Amino acid sequence: MLSIRNLAKTYPGGVRALRDVSLEIPPGMFGLIGPNGAGKSTLMKILATLLEPDTGSATLDGLDLVANKDETRRLLGYLPQEFGVYPKMSAVDMLRHLAVMKGITKSGERKEIVEGLLQQTNLWDVRKKALGGYSGGMKQRFGIAQALLANPRLIIVDEPTAGLDPAERNRFLNLLSSIGRNVVVILSTHIVEDVRELCSRMAIISSGELLLEGVPVETIDALKGRVWRKVVGTEAEREAIEKAFPVISMHLVGGLQELRIYSEQSPGQGFAGAEADLEDVYFHHLTRHRPN
Ligand code: ADP
Repeated sequence: MLSIRNLAKTYPGGVRALRDVSLEIPPGMFGLIGPNGAGKSTLMKILATLLEPDTGSATLDGLDLVANKDETRRLLGYLPQEFGVYPKMSAVDMLRHLAVMKGITKSGERKEIVEGLLQQTNLWDVRKKALGGYSGGMKQRFGIAQALLANPRLIIVDEPTAGLDPAERNRFLNLLSSIGRNVVVILSTHIVEDVRELCSRMAIISSGELLLEGVPVETIDALKGRVWRKVVGTEAEREAIEKAFPVISMHLVGGLQELRIYSEQSPGQGFAGAEADLEDVYFHHLTRHRPN
């Protein structure tokens, strides 16, 4: 269990990136979702020992991650947002090198681990190719391979699917979901779909604050019967609805503008009941907390 208690971080210059964030994260896939600038990377970097919080604590099964950086690094697998590679090195050479750095010094054991990871991440056929020639998806899968070296107990993956095409994204998400269930995996993302597909628990964060924490399907259930949709014909109609109801989102459907609103009773006026989804949960909580 990863326990995050009252974490706060203000950057020099005054940006309050995290305000008193507390979370209990059990083993399994945990989705941390929020818009750009929400504070996700800041939280990930603190957990990955790359940044010092101002106040608060983070412990993994009793180990204080903030105070014990060396020990934390040994049990951590971290895939940062931008994963730099040595472009001329091949995947297999780079993994061997990183394995040595992680302390896997016995060559037989190292070979077995490196080859196993190349198979698991589906990079076996391109293992001798220079990393500089890898596609975005291949680089991210290599990032997972290096994060899994040395059997981590905490895996942190920061915005992994940004920039991947749908096939690469799919392959990457399947790989993530195959990672051990006894490990805490935190997936930070601004893509709601990633969380819906993968995560057993999630949290929504915005402006450094925790807005919601829970099981995705349960958060959707809580909105059942409260999401309504209507295609609007004119700007005036849209504005009138925006004045009368909390708007969750606006989508184009076949070139027409469809509004989704939150209402505990039927709003009438031509609205139809909509099936709530995780995107509704996300936007509903974001807009509810938006400062005026
Ligand atoms: P996210 O990962 O959710 O996009 P970040 O944690 O990167 O959010 O950023 C949170 C806030 O902190 C943003 O307003 C960002 O501009 C600011 N920020 C991030 N890193 C720094 C830094 N090194 N110095 C100053 N401000 C920063």
